[in-house]
Amino acid sequence: HAKKKGNSYLFFNDTMNRQAVKRLQIENLMRFGLKEDHFEVYYQPKMNIRTGKLTGMEALVRFITPKKGIISPGVFIPIAEETGQIIDIGEVVLNKACRDVKKWLDDGLFNGRVAVNLSAKQFSLPDLTSRIDIILQKNALPSYFLELEITEGTVMDDPNEAINIMRSLSARGIHLAMDDFGTGYSSLAYLKQFPLNTLKVDKAFIDDMKNERGRNMVDSIVTIAHNLDLHVVAEGVEQAHQIDILKTLNCETVQGYYYSKPLSKDEFTEFLKQQQSK
Ligand code: C2E
Ligand code: CA
Ligand code: CA
Ligand code: CA
Repeated sequence: HAKKKGNSYLFFNDTMNRQAVKRLQIENLMRFGLKEDHFEVYYQPKMNIRTGKLTGMEALVRFITPKKGIISPGVFIPIAEETGQIIDIGEVVLNKACRDVKKWLDDGLFNGRVAVNLSAKQFSLPDLTSRIDIILQKNALPSYFLELEITEGTVMDDPNEAINIMRSLSARGIHLAMDDFGTGYSSLAYLKQFPLNTLKVDKAFIDDMKNERGRNMVDSIVTIAHNLDLHVVAEGVEQAHQIDILKTLNCETVQGYYYSKPLSKDEFTEFLKQQQSK
């Protein structure tokens, strides 16, 4: 191929090549991983801030490859979004999450909701609702036990169409959460129109609570959410003093390393048993 004198061009070209190769590698690994069942679901507890008891959990995908070890969602999810593989991966996650929650329900260990992340690509599938119905039915799990987490970008792409899709999910008794609230662009005018149940305050805002202005910001978000009858989940809570502040701000639910990192199915089963003996 054509070569050009001058380092910057070559360097740029090289970096681009390396990135393209890496992307292709991950795309291939994901295709193989989908066939070989290398996608697992981990669960992170959501805790009631006052009682310290479990109220729900978020399902988080883990890509466990035999050769390259665990590949972080931050690395493969954006690529899967671009290639469309997120649709198949998302179905695996939804299916395993429903299977696991059904088991915990039957074993009398848990009777709340599991929250599953829904990507923009999945959200805009014309047969989204029937795909979800089929997975729920297959696992004999009533839709009551499912919550879907959707980001601002996903719904603001076409807000009016998003409202229709959200209504059809909501009509089934599925709960809907706005994920990473405040990090994308969202319109307050739409926020009140979306049939949401929960607003998840992004970790960036929680980290910023060390400043007074940051605390005021979270205070305002919680107030808006409550005025719209939405539950609030604070994301990425790591420290005890953050819990103290969030209590004073009337935030009811927290998720973060302070309570627990995401756990494998077996670890989460143990966590549920410990919760019961409390
Ligand atoms: P997210 O939906 O905002 O998920 C929360 C992320 O924050 C998770 O990262 C979780 O492990 C991490 N986290 C939770 N508590 C703390 C904390 O106290 N401190 C810190 N530093 N991090 C914390 P994870 O599992 O790496 O996932 C990253 C992102 O990948 C997710 O962000 C979500 O956007 C995406 N993702 C994960 N699983 C799925 C999935 O099944 N489907 C789709 N579409 N996206 C997924
Ligand atoms: Ca999420
Ligand atoms: Ca989030
Ligand atoms: Ca996030």
